[in-house]
Amino acid sequence: MSTLPPRAVELLRAVHERPGLTRAEAAKTLDLGTGALTTLVNRLQDARMVAQAAAAPTGSRGRPTTALVPHPDGPLVGVGLVTHRSWVVRVVEVGGAVVAETTGGILGATDGDAVVRDLRRAVDDLDARLDGRVRAAGIAVPGPVRDNRWVKATLLDWSDQDVPALWGAVDRPTDVPLVVVGNDATLAAVGEARRGAARGSHTHLHLHLGIGMGGAVTAGGEALDGDHGAAGEFGHMPFGDPERACPCGAHGCWGRTMDGEDLARALGDPTPADPLAYSERVLDRAAAGDVAAAAAVQAQARSLGRGAAGLVNALDPTLVTLGGLAPRLLAVAPDAVRAAYRSGLMSYRRADPPPLRTAGLGDAAPLVGAAELVWDRLWQTG
Ligand SMILES: [Zn+2]
Repeated sequence: MSTLPPRAVELLRAVHERPGLTRAEAAKTLDLGTGALTTLVNRLQDARMVAQAAAAPTGSRGRPTTALVPHPDGPLVGVGLVTHRSWVVRVVEVGGAVVAETTGGILGATDGDAVVRDLRRAVDDLDARLDGRVRAAGIAVPGPVRDNRWVKATLLDWSDQDVPALWGAVDRPTDVPLVVVGNDATLAAVGEARRGAARGSHTHLHLHLGIGMGGAVTAGGEALDGDHGAAGEFGHMPFGDPERACPCGAHGCWGRTMDGEDLARALGDPTPADPLAYSERVLDRAAAGDVAAAAAVQAQARSLGRGAAGLVNALDPTLVTLGGLAPRLLAVAPDAVRAAYRSGLMSYRRADPPPLRTAGLGDAAPLVGAAELVWDRLWQTG
């Protein structure tokens, strides 16, 4: 896309952000006259980036108007998400609509290398089916990512995967470059800021409760991801029991007060093999009125509220989005979360605290965020 003039890229971005916007809206957004807009639209149409379609009539006269939509033969991006149970690969078009998807399991995979290779093959196979329109790819992984290296897979016994090198080492007939590797919660935050519950926010805090607690701060739709892309490990802030060791090597990590192992300890159960599934079951039991489960969940709910308040005091976000199991914690124990949140806030923030809002994109948020960052790279570099 580097061959496009900057104003054409701006128009393409406008269509990406609001597919189906009318020509009049596009002209207003970019502050363009009718002639200049027509020139840019023709350019993007010739480049098979944007197409025109009849839009629903607007205004009292019901004048027909023209909408700008993704070109049916336009560029695509591939994005993959690895969880501790499975992986999914999606191909999306300009505007974010999903045009193809495939999934696979990771059970039986002996290392992360095999999973990265599976993702590469999946993207290439979809690219071949879609006439080679996939321009670039991104991957979201569970666990910290530093300088594109997947440092540690949460719950999986893999570490230090050089993801771009693994991607490049697969001998395939097509060549879709991998341009984004990110932590799943960080990419979920970007997804929420661009197309989810935090769309349009100035600054936004996303908290994702999964195996541990992660998230990110976004500003203007960009994640503040640190010098090495490894920021947002909120679960490893010392909001927990200072005596308790965390697998990360630190003591007192906040996330240890909110995981499945913590619930099992509180309920006198053995350490669960799948702490996420265990947490889900305990939340179900608490919702159904199990008193012991409810007490354990209340403790975690208070920890969530308290930690969120501390981060709000430090970061001053417009809102807080909650992903993973955090919305369930809020739903099952809303009073405990909100009371702890309120009491942890500096007093001047209490009159109008940033809302705690359920994330809007669900499990797809990391895929949406990954796709947005891949598109960003394509707009910049082609
Ligand atoms: Zn830790």
